[in-house]
Amino acid sequence: MSPDRIPGRDGAARVALVTGAARGIGAAIAHRLAEDGMAVAVVDLDEQASARTANAILEAGGRAIAVGADVTDESAASQAVERAAAELGPVGVLVNNAGILRDNLLFKMTVDDWDSVMGVHLRGAFLMTRAAQAHMVGLKWGRIVNLSSTSALGNRGQVNYAAAKAGLQGFTKTLALELGKFGITANAIAPGFIETEMTQATAARLGVGFEDWKAAMARDIPVGRVGSPADIAAAASFFCREEAGYVSGQVLYVAGGPKA
Ligand code: NAP
Repeated sequence: MSPDRIPGRDGAARVALVTGAARGIGAAIAHRLAEDGMAVAVVDLDEQASARTANAILEAGGRAIAVGADVTDESAASQAVERAAAELGPVGVLVNNAGILRDNLLFKMTVDDWDSVMGVHLRGAFLMTRAAQAHMVGLKWGRIVNLSSTSALGNRGQVNYAAAKAGLQGFTKTLALELGKFGITANAIAPGFIETEMTQATAARLGVGFEDWKAAMARDIPVGRVGSPADIAAAASFFCREEAGYVSGQVLYVAGGPKA
């Protein structure tokens, strides 16, 4: 059996749930886990947007469903997990990827900017993980992957986002401690600059052309290029494999160089 094929209970495909998977990094992770043999619940705010990713997976011969859910809403988060379990099977893999930016210097940052970012990244990851762990404990197997960022090390204009992404690292390590005895691993990926609509929107907000900005960023990245969503999906794929069962509580910086 190929190490990429990861059978679940009774030989059925493992079930993965990826949040914020309508586009960008989340969509790339959803595609990659489907290619690895998993059935994937594609979760995003808008079910129609999720359906674009899910349909592309189905067209490629994979198994997927689209779910619309706001990860900050307690009942929506648990309903998303229960729907995935009812339609695909118990959720064994959770990727907390949904994210937003509300950048500003501290003295201009509003309470809403702070709360919104904490809400999606930290409250969202907490609610989704609390809901999904019940399935993983039942399976005696699980893989949790949280999306942190190099901004966890500090980034001007991102006091909210940096705090949330550093918080996700502590969240990840604590999950690893609490859930390890159930065969569940928890790891975080901390991407550097990745080319997505998120970074495109930041370029627009700063008033710089995206191509010029990418070229400028690439000059400071040791491998000489910016990252792609596929670079992050490859790291997520590794953490979700059977053979990665002894890797837990780790933060992997995927940033084209030794960022941390
Ligand atoms: P993106 O293109 O902005 O995609 C994020 C997705 O999350 C969007 O589809 C968004 O939906 C969804 N989302 C936002 N709030 C949500 C909520 N409350 N419930 C459910 N879904 C929600 O971002 P990305 O660049 O792919 O980033 C993905 C993750 O990687 C984020 O956690 C981000 O912080 C992290 N990251 C990105 C980079 C980078 O350079 N791109 C670097 C480090 C870390 P809407 O479109 O409807 O808002």
